Amino acid sequence: MTDSTGELTAKEIKKRRRRLPPPDPQPLRGLVDAHTHLAACGGRTEADVRAILDHAEAVGVDQVVTVADDMVDARWAVAAAHWDDRAFAAVGLHPTHAGDLNDESRAELEEMVADPRVVAVGETGLDYYWTTRSDDCADPAAQKDAFAWHIDLAKRSGKTLMIHNRDADRDLLDVLAAEGAPETVVMHCFSGDREIARECIDLGYVLSFSGTVTFNNSTELREAALLTPDELILVETDAPFLTPHPYRGQPNQPYCVPYTARFLADLRGVSDERMADVLGSNARRVYKFPLR
Ligand SMILES: [Zn+2]
Ligand SMILES: [Zn+2]
Repeated sequence: MTDSTGELTAKEIKKRRRRLPPPDPQPLRGLVDAHTHLAACGGRTEADVRAILDHAEAVGVDQVVTVADDMVDARWAVAAAHWDDRAFAAVGLHPTHAGDLNDESRAELEEMVADPRVVAVGETGLDYYWTTRSDDCADPAAQKDAFAWHIDLAKRSGKTLMIHNRDADRDLLDVLAAEGAPETVVMHCFSGDREIARECIDLGYVLSFSGTVTFNNSTELREAALLTPDELILVETDAPFLTPHPYRGQPNQPYCVPYTARFLADLRGVSDERMADVLGSNARRVYKFPLR
């Protein structure tokens, strides 16, 4: 859209910018994207996945965990993890899709979790944001049932539990406590305040920080990131959303991890290299990546 003089309008400039991928960050070696969605990032084929991971590796993001939302996505994530040895999969039903859990999907998820390329069960948990905003979203009771089933699956399979939490802090921690948490729990895209962070840390849960920690209004989240001990911190993109500042709103991909990793280094007063080393080695430990 142009105005009468042929100049781009401010609105159009903003719109175009939103479609533009952020520039490549300066490389920062040894990082892992602890939670991403490669299919939603435009990964369809093996060649697409390879291109996304080549781009990430060029700036130091060596491996990623690609996470499923529903059954179609879960099958795709497992396939992607077999196409490229830099991708690992997490399989499960997102809480908003908890209604899809039945005998058939349970049996299929059980089978998928046994695959050595699958490193986590999830994303599962509770999402009370969408229950009031979408007709398709599973109700809280169905979400709790499905969450309990995923917790049990993680325990039986020995895989890490990948948790999604939106506006459900208290219920989520209560269900986990009632069911008994598996050995390793990752709170993906951690969004709680200082108290919730403290509670998770005391329980030994791993807090994974996305681009949201870099947003201007993230005061509480920054405090949480400051509280988290070295051995319990991860970094993720949750791409294609939550692109770190100053690229918020533009498309996110695993190659953007160094932006958030550098922000965390700055916040915690350590060197970028030291932060990358902590974040990368934690991911490799938490997900038990095989040695390359
Ligand atoms: Zn999520
Ligand atoms: Zn996600």
